[in-house]
Amino acid sequence: CHTSNLYRVTGQEQLSRRLIDHTFADTVFFTNSGVEAWECAVKTIRRHFSAKGQPDRHRIVAIEGAFHGRTLGAISSTRSEKMTGGLGPLLDGFDIVPFGDLTAMRAAITPHTAAIMVEPIMGEGGIRSWTDQQLSGMRALCDEFGLLLFFDEIQCGMGRTGRLFAHEWTGVTPDVMSVAKGIGGGFPLGACLATEDAASGMTAGYHGSTYGGNPLAMAVGMAALDVLLQPEFLPGVVENAAKLREGLEAFRRRHSNSVEEIRGTGMMLGIKLGPAYDPTQFVEAALRAGLLVARASDNVVRLLPPLIIGDAEIVEALRLIETALNGLEAAA
Ligand code: PLP
Repeated sequence: CHTSNLYRVTGQEQLSRRLIDHTFADTVFFTNSGVEAWECAVKTIRRHFSAKGQPDRHRIVAIEGAFHGRTLGAISSTRSEKMTGGLGPLLDGFDIVPFGDLTAMRAAITPHTAAIMVEPIMGEGGIRSWTDQQLSGMRALCDEFGLLLFFDEIQCGMGRTGRLFAHEWTGVTPDVMSVAKGIGGGFPLGACLATEDAASGMTAGYHGSTYGGNPLAMAVGMAALDVLLQPEFLPGVVENAAKLREGLEAFRRRHSNSVEEIRGTGMMLGIKLGPAYDPTQFVEAALRAGLLVARASDNVVRLLPPLIIGDAEIVEALRLIETALNGLEAAA
């Protein structure tokens, strides 16, 4: 499964061509994980400006409560106490602003700013989505100040929302994007996508990876895309996700004490619980009932089901979620 990246790897050429054909990107670098794709994106941004003779432009505006992975770089970009406790000193270079606040974003831009970085839908941060207007506003800010726009679509991309990438719902395109998770259908694979201009500083020697882009991962990536790009696949995700959401919205009406809001897009859904309820207890109750769900910030339970679920699984999942909700309410 290994060929040194000193040599041509045909699978990399095939998979990158396919990703380029379906996205804003002109160029792709393959990694073994999400956070490596994220780090590659940060290096791409810094190199973009240093290669243009502006090495002082290296800071990135990032979002409070976001999640980009577990390397020192990634934890430094979110600075959440949970992620960074006892791990200092952290890396410099990130200016953190609250979610949803474009005024704060504008105020954080200085002559040292290189990019704005967001997850179009925050995963760990509580399934919080930027509106189309906010994403367009970010694009406009980047264009006004000559910054790069960096989307982390590691969790919300690869069909999760019913489009290949979440930003496609908005018509706003980034300059750099990190991708992982679904790109390998469970196999370790990530990718950093960029426009030719954004990646112009990443000439040979500035980045590399022993196993990133190995032939086995490339074959898996091609097979995953074979499924995702079937014409009926993503519309099917949208249709099935609507059924799941309809069921969850019914719970919100029936369990208005414990369920405050249903959030998200496609198969990236969040159940925001009322203040008296604890998502960890919900996760445990769901596990006892036989369903795996995850917690997120902002008192949210995250549902990230496989994109291939159909009617039978949706009915069963809703039954198990209601069992968990009943258990939670009984214990409250
Ligand atoms: N970025 C986002 C938005 C994520 O959700 C994750 C993982 O959950 C990562 C980055 C890190 O990916 P990995 O765990 O593959 O390094």
